[in-house]
Amino acid sequence: MAGFDAPAIARMLGYAGLDELVLHLPLRYLDETRITPLAEARPGETVQIEGVIAHAEIQPHPRRQLLLEVESIEPGAARLYVRLLHFYPSQVAQLRAGARVRVLGDVRPGFFGAEMVHPQVRVVNERTPLPDRLTPVYPGIAALSPNAIRKAVDIALARADLTDSLPPTVRAELGLAEFGAALRALHRPPSDADQAALQARVSAEWRRIKFDELLAQQLTLRLAARQRRALRAPRLMDDGGLGARLLANLPFTLTPAQARARDEILRDLARPQPMNRLLQGDVGSGKTLVAALALMPALAAGSQAAVMAPTEILAEQLHVKLREWLTPLGIEVAWLTAALKGKARRDTLARIAAGEIGVAVGTHALFQAGVAFRDLALAIVDEQHRFGVAQRLALRDKGAASSLTAADSMPHLLMMSATPIPRSLAMSYYADLDVSVIDQLPPGRTPISTRVLSDARRAELIARLRGYCRDGAQVYWVCPLVEESDKLQLRAAQASHAELVAALPELRIGLVHGRMKADEKAAVMAAFKAGALHLLVATTVIEVGVDVPNASLMVIEHAERYGLAQLHQLRGRVGRGARQSVCVLLYGTPLSPGARQRLRVLRELNDGFAIAREDLRLRGPGEFMGARQSGQQMLRFADPETDLDLLELARTVAPRLLTRHPHAVSRHLARWLPRGLEFLRA
Ligand code: ADP
Ligand code: MG
Repeated sequence: MAGFDAPAIARMLGYAGLDELVLHLPLRYLDETRITPLAEARPGETVQIEGVIAHAEIQPHPRRQLLLEVESIEPGAARLYVRLLHFYPSQVAQLRAGARVRVLGDVRPGFFGAEMVHPQVRVVNERTPLPDRLTPVYPGIAALSPNAIRKAVDIALARADLTDSLPPTVRAELGLAEFGAALRALHRPPSDADQAALQARVSAEWRRIKFDELLAQQLTLRLAARQRRALRAPRLMDDGGLGARLLANLPFTLTPAQARARDEILRDLARPQPMNRLLQGDVGSGKTLVAALALMPALAAGSQAAVMAPTEILAEQLHVKLREWLTPLGIEVAWLTAALKGKARRDTLARIAAGEIGVAVGTHALFQAGVAFRDLALAIVDEQHRFGVAQRLALRDKGAASSLTAADSMPHLLMMSATPIPRSLAMSYYADLDVSVIDQLPPGRTPISTRVLSDARRAELIARLRGYCRDGAQVYWVCPLVEESDKLQLRAAQASHAELVAALPELRIGLVHGRMKADEKAAVMAAFKAGALHLLVATTVIEVGVDVPNASLMVIEHAERYGLAQLHQLRGRVGRGARQSVCVLLYGTPLSPGARQRLRVLRELNDGFAIAREDLRLRGPGEFMGARQSGQQMLRFADPETDLDLLELARTVAPRLLTRHPHAVSRHLARWLPRGLEFLRA
């Protein structure tokens, strides 16, 4: 057709050209290949009816619409009322009494009889053939008619290069459909196609496309890993037994899971390529100690390490712990806080630059301009999921810029997280990351029992705190989350604090919140840790990492406002000592169905992995990972959870293609990632 500009339509849909448009796949299909007698149509089914318009008129009320009365062609002449809510003058002219039409939509019982609201209506004659292909419905934009998109895709299918990117032998071995054939069948399925399989996206054709997408992802991740392996890093070995001395000073021994994680890390550090490892372990599993042991080879080599935490409180806690463990070994640990000012700050910076300080702990302030290391060999990031990609990048740059390091050398990187990533996601999004898992808690922990309680019973709960604290236990009281404003959140915290102080005058009650100065916060936390406070009213500043083993009760106000992962993190602040711990989730009413579900998951599950799985199920992978956090484009067709078998297939095939079929790899990536790999830099 003259003037039809398929490439322009591709661009309107966000693609560079027709080669990309062929991967614009249908959301679903319409079956125009058969006519259903009106009497046989069931409500809720999408069917096509053929008939003759008996009457047509524009009704102005209640909403302007074109109303058609269609007499169906089969004997018995049932009638169908068709309401068109959006229509053009050209349609009014076409859809006149006497016109023969095919109407496709959902039949429902209406006021006058069967009706269809805003179906697809086509004018036909007795000889108009039924199509022999299902009609695709594409994702679109308002400015484009469905037919224009269909036509553009047809042109793209005819013109684009649909050569299979997989070598025939590999494709045959994997038992996958041929690419071009699969793509054509998805755009234009034959009328006898298994519509259920198509719709559910599990047909052989869909599997081929999903496999290709997952393969592209695996290939890019492997290429990124290859780039990283081309970098150098100092080989670090703990020859003098520093780690053994640290352990000998502790009143406990490593759990087998901690020992395994440590061994994996030490093996990485001894290699001349930078480590890129994630240490996963549920809250309270003892990641800090493993991190301390990871420092040993760097310190033994006379190099430096940086330990970064997302908040001041956490950084301070890490500092206290590491100083306690490392000082007896003659290693100096510095805490670089925003509160450190003037001469003290200049001195610390100078000693870091001179290499006198072995370990510097801090928030991301650690990586601001002005902080220079002499010889940074290892960077550890605690609670890594709380940092954005930009901050992680800054950290790498800092390593590259340390004065003793060669231009192509990087520090080793260890990230820690208590937010477990399910295996499927780890494989697809973090394939360039090695993962160590601490899958057991230190002995002697009692499981936390979680209660869900309406805020209506608040007074009763507060009254019971009195006896609880008198018996020597300590309590966290977590204030409601106010997402938009930490000023409002502060006010809520102050109100709860005042209420508790008034109700429990004989208890010592502290308050800690995000707007306090770092040293004020540290003082309150220290008092709580020392047992000088019975009860600590806190905002989510205590969310991660805070470690006060004697605290055994946590109350979370308006628990329904928090997400699953956050509640699990918060709850992990208790259950660290020998005393039976309890977490009370106070909720306000009315409770939304989603919130009710979250609270139930928390009450029933204690295991972080199981909770993460539920979280993933409730929120979907995009939300769960946070597209920005993962720094990676999300998958369009495949789903790492449901398509795990394809993901595993792609993962096994990728290395082989890279070594034996480099041309196939470039062809494949050109098709699936035409805009290159720039996003992988993070
Ligand atoms: P997380 O993994 O949440 O960061 P921490 O490192 O804060 O956990 O450890 C929680 C508590 O367990 C700390 O008080 C720590 O000293 C203690 N701990 C760590 N390892 C062991 C162990 N092997 N045996 C007993 N207690 C341990
Ligand atoms: Mg921790």
